[in-house]
Amino acid sequence: MSTTINTTPAITGKPLAGKVAFIHGGSRGIGAATARRLARDGATVAIGYAASAIAAEALVEDIKASGGNAIALKADATDAAALTRAIDGVADRFGRLDILVNSAGVLALAPLDQFTLEDFDRTVAVNIRSVFVATQAAARHMKEGGRIINIGSTNAQRMPFAGGAPYAMSKSALVGLVKGLARDLGPRGITVNNVAPGPVDTDMNPEAGDFAAVMHGLMAIPRHGKADEIAGMVAYLAGPDAAFVTGADLLIDGGFAA
Ligand code: NDP
Repeated sequence: MSTTINTTPAITGKPLAGKVAFIHGGSRGIGAATARRLARDGATVAIGYAASAIAAEALVEDIKASGGNAIALKADATDAAALTRAIDGVADRFGRLDILVNSAGVLALAPLDQFTLEDFDRTVAVNIRSVFVATQAAARHMKEGGRIINIGSTNAQRMPFAGGAPYAMSKSALVGLVKGLARDLGPRGITVNNVAPGPVDTDMNPEAGDFAAVMHGLMAIPRHGKADEIAGMVAYLAGPDAAFVTGADLLIDGGFAA
């Protein structure tokens, strides 16, 4: 006798059962925590990476070992054609695409007179342009209920240090981008939002770093956030409770910008 597995959220208790998510920049840090969380919530997750193939494949194995469904695929943010192909490939393979998370990001810091145009252009390409490219590609496949979630930054609201103007600019650009995209995609029932973290303990910004104490001095809750905490807010935006949230830049920063 064959058994039918019911994937409706009400039956499985998993709010994202039956959904397919592409997580761009899912190999490490916040993206990796998000992949784990969305898989735990029942989604099939496709993990996009650029340099960290080994980490991405290890994450896939971890998710599968926990009973989830995951694949990894290379998709460099600076290559629009490759990124679009990767997203099209996920939609073709699984027959749908419900959630896009844009977590790929770079942070370049330097005194103004030493900041190279190469770093400026890379910041724009990865932190802004790839978000637009991925959104364009994903929106072609999404239906009513689709979710696009970018990892912005509290630095769009407050940049209390020198040397990070292009990074702050890139995250501010996402604030405008989601407002416009919310208008483009709202009529189709697709939401577009930013999650805007404060300092989070990842390779990009280790809590053990020299700079951590200075940052903690600026915060209401003086510690780094955990990648899992950021993933929790992404999961909220991806889930059914957030259907009426769009065009928003949701701070999760321990009061960094307060
Ligand atoms: P990590 O450095 O830990 O991870 C960065 C991720 O981005 C990796 O998965 C990396 O993949 C991917 N990535 C980088 N360049 C590219 C590229 N060219 N193409 C595709 N993927 C790329 O950083 P975090 O997890 O901390 O950062 C994730 C996001 O959160 C970023 O957008 C960042 O700006 C933002 N953020 C981080 C904060 C923090 O304090 N950590 C605070 C606020 C926002 P790979 O290794 O495979 O290249």
